[in-house]
Amino acid sequence: MNIVVLIKQVPDTYSERKLKDSDGTLDREATDAVLDEINERAVEAALQLKEAQGGEVTVLTMGPDGATDAIRKALSMGADKAVHLSDEALAGSCAVQTARALAKAIGTVEGGFDLVVAGNEASDGRSSAVPAMVADVLGLPALTHAREITVDGSSITVKRETDDGVTTLTAELPAVVSVGEKINEPRYPSFKGIMAAKKKPVAAITIADAGIEASEVGLANALTTVTSASPKPPKSAGEKIEDEGDGGAKVAAYLVGQKLI
Ligand SMILES: Cc1cc2nc3c(=O)[nH]c(=O)nc-3n(C[C@H](O)[C@H](O)[C@H](O)COP(=O)(O)OP(=O)(O)OC[C@H]3O[C@@H](n4cnc5c(N)ncnc54)[C@H](O)[C@@H]3O)c2cc1C
Repeated sequence: MNIVVLIKQVPDTYSERKLKDSDGTLDREATDAVLDEINERAVEAALQLKEAQGGEVTVLTMGPDGATDAIRKALSMGADKAVHLSDEALAGSCAVQTARALAKAIGTVEGGFDLVVAGNEASDGRSSAVPAMVADVLGLPALTHAREITVDGSSITVKRETDDGVTTLTAELPAVVSVGEKINEPRYPSFKGIMAAKKKPVAAITIADAGIEASEVGLANALTTVTSASPKPPKSAGEKIEDEGDGGAKVAAYLVGQKLI
């Protein structure tokens, strides 16, 4: 079973993330970059399927040169090889452009694929739309927000969990799956894994290699543009309630006032 995992390098969630005043895109230089945690779970899910079914795991990212760190992390967890779609022309691409470019890049993966695994939401852009859009462009079924994945021959079944509850979805392979936080606990790369990752193949491809036109990608051609951005207001200190025997009533009044009860 050949699995392609879509991974993204994102600003470290614990660091302050900001947009560039010049063009409203994320200021990736201003913060440390990490492999998005949800993508570590996507890699873990793929490795578990490979251990059960055999096959190969390829990680694929669309990102600047610096994204090689995220790739090495995924390879050190146990992925077999990588594809890095990197090109100046991609800078500032919106989610729709990103999905179309990723779909083309998936087509360059040697040996083809039976399954594409992604995270259900990137911690920076948070559109939670790329996996379904990639599936649409490839004409494949999308099984999203998976907390459990089972493959039986040519059919795949996932337990899908959202705030509305849990549903079970089944589809024929090839397919696209996005995983949620509850799917697994990603393994830590072993020292042996980290050393082996240095030798694993990373195919660096440009938009030309993937058959993507420059007019299809990048900030100048993006379908959405950030026109203004204001930082989130600092959290207010919150209300202090003095309990003079009526603390309970005051808390109830506060909760009613906040429409929480
Ligand atoms: C603050 C901010 C706001 C934005 N707002 C918008 C917006 O409103 N509309 C819009 O069209 N674009 C927006 N973008 C741009 C958008 O984030 C990027 O195009 C991004 O690459 C894809 O969207 P996402 O991160 O929201 O992906 P999501 O759909 O949240 O990502 C889900 C999964 O898709 C895969 N994936 C996503 N991006 C990549 C990648 N580059 N390489 C490999 N796998 C990937 C990963 O597995 C990821 O876990 C915004 C970006 C930022 C930083």
